[in-house]
Amino acid sequence: MMNTDWQPTACILCECNCGIEVRLGEDGHTFDRIRGDKAHPASQGYTCERALRLNHYQNGTNRLLSPLRPVRRAGFTGEGLALGEALFDGIVAGHHGITFSVDEWADVSPRVQTEDGLIHVHIAEMVDKLRALAEEPEFTSAEFPLVLSAGERRSFTANTIIRDSSWRKRDADGALRVSSEDAAACGVVDGGVALISTRRGSAQVSVEVSPMMQRGHVSLPNGMGLDEPTAAGSPRAGVAPNELTSSDDRDWIAGTPWHKSVPARLEPIG
Ligand code: SF4
Repeated sequence: MMNTDWQPTACILCECNCGIEVRLGEDGHTFDRIRGDKAHPASQGYTCERALRLNHYQNGTNRLLSPLRPVRRAGFTGEGLALGEALFDGIVAGHHGITFSVDEWADVSPRVQTEDGLIHVHIAEMVDKLRALAEEPEFTSAEFPLVLSAGERRSFTANTIIRDSSWRKRDADGALRVSSEDAAACGVVDGGVALISTRRGSAQVSVEVSPMMQRGHVSLPNGMGLDEPTAAGSPRAGVAPNELTSSDDRDWIAGTPWHKSVPARLEPIG
């Protein structure tokens, strides 16, 4: 019988972690339907097309069916969960990195599933779009002179750390990073607060003037802006990238909103 229950969960395919709801098929394993979760505080029902293809990624017939063999070749042993535990222990103990997978060419080439067994780099649908890049109009404007990366991966924004903010040892607010030149030009200071604005919306951010940033380019970390229920309420730290990005400005082929190149403006507050 068809399962009509929708289960809330989250898409983990990128840093936005949009809320989704899934309905399982009769086998209790495949996803029969996937939709955005309107009750999710950050994504509010939005998903890009990647989340809607989760069943393909998880259950597609061309997926890698023997991922354990390369792990065993790397020297890890055990059956079922024990193999995963051995890999985890190896990663924790290997302070300078470990080899976790050893592939062989004989296993690799059958994964290319084109009829002639070759990888085709000439993709006709993309040729015109690639040519048009040379003529691309100016990206920034007087109104939005900066380029915002709304979703930079940082040391303390791994997904598991975001779930419990007390695990984040630095950058508690998920500060906006800006070069010293842009900070001076915009009138913002290290440790201060500022307003970042895009065509989609505005958000208050704390500022970190950083030598890592190039002039004209500011960044916010991925995965922030989540409510974290506690006994004292549901404080929210940082900015959800989806609040500054728009599905009007999106990748033409995948439909994913641009997160790493959002025209933006930075202004001091107070
Ligand atoms: S933007 Fe798309 S891929 Fe990223 S979390 Fe949301 S639904 Fe998933």
